[in-house]
Amino acid sequence: MSTQPFALSDVQRDFRRTLRTFCEEKIAPNAAEVDRDAVFPWQSFEACKEMELPALGIPDAYGGAGADHVTQAIMVEELSRVCASTSLSILISKLGMIPLMNWGTEELKKEYMPRVAIGEIQASYCLSEADAGSDVAAMRTRAVRDGDDYILTGSKYWITNAGVSDVYVVFAKTDPEAGGRGISCFVVEKEWGLRIAKHEDKLGMRGSPTGEVVLDEVRVPASHRVGEEGQGFTIAMHTLDRSRPTIGAQAVGIAQGAIDYAASYMKQRHAFGAPIADLQGLRFMLADMATRNEAARALVYRACSLIDDDPAGELTMYGAMAKAFASDTAMAVTVDAVQLLGGYGYTKEFPVERHLRDAKVTQIYEGTNQVQRVVIAREFLKGV
Ligand SMILES: Cc1cc2nc3c(=O)[nH]c(=O)nc-3n(C[C@H](O)[C@H](O)[C@H](O)COP(=O)(O)OP(=O)(O)OC[C@H]3O[C@@H](n4cnc5c(N)ncnc54)[C@H](O)[C@@H]3O)c2cc1C
Repeated sequence: MSTQPFALSDVQRDFRRTLRTFCEEKIAPNAAEVDRDAVFPWQSFEACKEMELPALGIPDAYGGAGADHVTQAIMVEELSRVCASTSLSILISKLGMIPLMNWGTEELKKEYMPRVAIGEIQASYCLSEADAGSDVAAMRTRAVRDGDDYILTGSKYWITNAGVSDVYVVFAKTDPEAGGRGISCFVVEKEWGLRIAKHEDKLGMRGSPTGEVVLDEVRVPASHRVGEEGQGFTIAMHTLDRSRPTIGAQAVGIAQGAIDYAASYMKQRHAFGAPIADLQGLRFMLADMATRNEAARALVYRACSLIDDDPAGELTMYGAMAKAFASDTAMAVTVDAVQLLGGYGYTKEFPVERHLRDAKVTQIYEGTNQVQRVVIAREFLKGV
């Protein structure tokens, strides 16, 4: 096991300060409304474009800023602290581009990555199906070769940004007999015939549309296959390893938003003639919330630094640990934040109930926390 220490640079600290102000001024004011109306946060996304935030996760050779992954985590944290749906709008296009970055041809990289970097287009990642979530290899979507094209038929479920995205990275079976080894990966443009069948009415993350993407004999040029035929499962898992730590960052940011709000409320709210912040029982709760989230943050940064440099092959385990620990922490912390606000915490007039609802999905998507524990134990046992 590596024992590499971790500390933020001055540049990263400055970046957080700048983003905190930006998020409070430009993103926070829209958050309650996009949650209430379940609409994509266009105004916030446009503000992120002006700040060039979509560029952060794209390599500079393809029009991006090529930021390290700890810096990307800071961005995700700060956005999530005020509006988790907006953070997801940036994260999802990055997720869609990771397969291209690592497995795509030069042509595919040049065709899509610069446009994602400037926020001109957005991307979705289409892995899950109605009957194939944790069990990815059970997917039924088919890709059949037809000359220089593939014909894709099937339905992808739970797709973040469905309808908003211009480009969909779709996993489909080219060899149904081969199980996980028969999956391939394709880039599919919206205009080629994708259909959005329905959108989910969700508990949280309501500003981020989640929908069913239907492919009904959609013709995709073979040049838009990512990697080799049969490499899809490997590409999907390799991609999630590189994305999960930033879901951990999302959870840390949501939790931080709830902690900060609850702490300032405790100073203002009076009971029995004094601020409730004077009550030791509540101070202990706040201390535990802050400590747990700080521990989650350290694990997330550790995992993020491994995306950039992983000499000992530890990313899979640390990424799963970071995602599971940070999201479990966010869930516990946001429940406690509601408690600290008493009855007011239970209403939509205050943001902590939104933080609670948004936190829940971080325990579910990009692999449930049960699946993360399967991964952690498997990886840990390998090293014993
Ligand atoms: C808001 C939202 C957005 C999403 N966005 C996307 C997206 O953009 N792209 C995409 O491809 N998918 C997306 N997903 C899908 C998400 O990744 C899946 O929901 C998730 O992987 C779980 O799959 P499932 O829902 O089919 O649950 P199931 O796999 O049916 O799991 C049901 C229960 O069984 C448990 N379980 C399953 N297998 C095991 C096991 N081996 N050991 C222990 N427990 C197990 C699970 O932990 C869970 O508690 C999204 C989901 C949501 C809710």
